[in-house]
Amino acid sequence: MLQEILANNERFLQNTTVPHVGHAPRKNTALVTCMDCRLVNMFEPALGLERGDVLELRTAGATISSPDRPEAANDLIRSLAGGIYLLGVRQVIVVGHTECGLSKVNPTVLTATMQALGVDPDKLIREYGLKDVNGLVEWIGAFKEVHMNVQEVVNVIRNSPFLPKLPVSGLVIDINTGKLTIVDDGGKATK
Ligand SMILES: [Zn+2]
Repeated sequence: MLQEILANNERFLQNTTVPHVGHAPRKNTALVTCMDCRLVNMFEPALGLERGDVLELRTAGATISSPDRPEAANDLIRSLAGGIYLLGVRQVIVVGHTECGLSKVNPTVLTATMQALGVDPDKLIREYGLKDVNGLVEWIGAFKEVHMNVQEVVNVIRNSPFLPKLPVSGLVIDINTGKLTIVDDGGKATK
């Protein structure tokens, strides 16, 4: 795959001139979404976004795992803080998606795959105070229902002591059609 990427890059450089745009997002917005590969080349057109418009933060599940929620000081909050304090972000939109891998985590498959790849889940559970396999599932950020997850992440961002009060809203995108559904409109404070 690396060789393929490098060859593609050669071709790209021969055929393409990338226009210069500023690094502050011109829509003053940060979007939090999932790492799902099906969002590639679909997410931005579905939302009408161009290069330079917004910051995009992608995490597995567009989520903050429950062990990270109480202090809300995890890497997603850090990135949002950078966007807000350094790059002029003034609103945040969380966009979960249907059929998310983290909404159907099978604990048996998770631990078996870890073992097959040489990672001992029991050792992790013991050494990192995860209690049991459910603790491991929580650590990876699994959730039951995407709308509920989006709402919870919106609430964590809203209440983070590291972030100022600013509009935070939540959406779910249908991974097959691109259709958006509103979970939380941010109190209609966003345009
Ligand atoms: Zn996902």
